[in-house]
Amino acid sequence: MVERSGSPGGRVAVVEDGGYRLDIGATVLTMRGILAGVFEAAGTSLEAHLELVPLDPMYRATFPGEDEILVRQGIPAMTEEIRTKCGAADAAGFERFCRWLTGLYQLEMPNFIDRNFDTPLDLAWPLGPLVRLLRTGALRRLASVVDEHFGDPRLRKLFSFQAMYAGLSPFDALAVYGVITYMDTVEGVYFPMGGMHAVGEALAAAAVGAGATVQYDTEVERVLRRPGAGGREGGGEVVGVRLASGEVLAADAVVANPDLPVAYRSLVPELPAPRIARRGEYSPSCALWVAGVRGGMPDGAAHHNIHFGGQWEEAFDALLAQGRRMPDPSILVTSHSFSDPSLAPPGCSTLYALEPTPNLSGRVDWMDERERTRASLIARLHSHGYPVDDIEVERFYDPTDWERMGMEQGTPFGLSHRFFQSGPFRPANVERRAPGLFFVGSSTVPGVGVPMVLLSGRLVADRVEGIRP
Ligand SMILES: Cc1cc2nc3c(=O)[nH]c(=O)nc-3n(C[C@H](O)[C@H](O)[C@H](O)COP(=O)(O)OP(=O)(O)OC[C@H]3O[C@@H](n4cnc5c(N)ncnc54)[C@H](O)[C@@H]3O)c2cc1C
Repeated sequence: MVERSGSPGGRVAVVEDGGYRLDIGATVLTMRGILAGVFEAAGTSLEAHLELVPLDPMYRATFPGEDEILVRQGIPAMTEEIRTKCGAADAAGFERFCRWLTGLYQLEMPNFIDRNFDTPLDLAWPLGPLVRLLRTGALRRLASVVDEHFGDPRLRKLFSFQAMYAGLSPFDALAVYGVITYMDTVEGVYFPMGGMHAVGEALAAAAVGAGATVQYDTEVERVLRRPGAGGREGGGEVVGVRLASGEVLAADAVVANPDLPVAYRSLVPELPAPRIARRGEYSPSCALWVAGVRGGMPDGAAHHNIHFGGQWEEAFDALLAQGRRMPDPSILVTSHSFSDPSLAPPGCSTLYALEPTPNLSGRVDWMDERERTRASLIARLHSHGYPVDDIEVERFYDPTDWERMGMEQGTPFGLSHRFFQSGPFRPANVERRAPGLFFVGSSTVPGVGVPMVLLSGRLVADRVEGIRP
């Protein structure tokens, strides 16, 4: 493995400054079983490499002018929370909703997610799972299925906002994307001691333990191919990579992990990327403010805190249809040091505040909006009682920063998961025009987020195995 940065983890990145260890990437870790499976595939165990603690509450949700709701770990505890805050009918609705989500997940995972597709026809073969999926109402809108289960508008938000992880509004997303809600609501949210970046470090250690070699600070410049028919340069199968240093590494298979459209442009410029990667719709992006601050978290705060804004449909409309910042954004505030105090000096805390924003195809001029967004995030944190008066270290990232880091259209969340950008319609993990070239990561199958990217590793491994003599 060759990695251009100095440490593993990619978008699950960390900044170390002033005695703080600040995670600047993924923060909500779900699907412990998928992660454990990767360690097992490397002949070891998750427990040997990581200390994962279940978070309870998984999120604290606040709503303007109203009580907060804690999203509890485990269905019985959450049912009780809903009974107390929202009444018996919604508590019963939650149990029904979890059964629906579980059925959906069990149907989708083996048949539509953890699977390589060769053509769209594979969706209908075997036919049974597709028919069962249609019967579950999976092609209805997610928001309307959620509304059927819950009367309280706060719960409707809490169990549909996850569509945003797939780059969609819950009003547009098909119910089939309820699987994302399943991942946190039913499977639970975990935190790795040492911070999220510990996941990348642990995976790299497991790979090395299984015999892989990893070269850091090593950038790949080109994928090298044998001459094609008629001696055309770079037209044949893959023979290795050329590094930025000029060194050539021979290989009979190359698995490329940079954001897929960027990988096509920079590593194999002779091949146009698949149309959907060039013309498709990318997920919204985010503005992220992280800081190390003096002081502790306010009373009642949790590890993950979602502060919902007053607007909902209008907010999605601004973000997704108009390409503008949400007028009254819902934000996620996480304090990793809340669960692992070693991430900050004594008496201090780490803060991570994320606002969904349009990606660079939107209408925001980030030269103009950058400082305003940073200031409004800090002001929001202040109004919720977070200790932002004594900031010791801070970083701020907007979509132009994500683009500089190699993410297409300035979004860390890749191609959105519209139906025709998922499964067999998503850019494939195998490039048949260049035998031996494969792709892995969030812009190929199955999709975005740490659990999906881990599965993409397994799916591409199956492809590579297929070409071995
Ligand atoms: C702010 C933020 C919040 C997020 N929140 C969550 C969350 O809460 N939960 C969740 O599950 N997901 C979340 N995500 C998404 C998740 O982090 C990504 O989906 C996932 O990490 C992407 O993995 P990847 O392998 O596709 O890409 P990356 O992690 O970006 O890996 C690509 C790797 O390739 C390397 N590379 C690129 N070009 C070259 C080259 N030419 N030569 C050598 N190496 C190269 C890069 O350095 C990098 O290490 C978040 C992401 C961000 C940024």
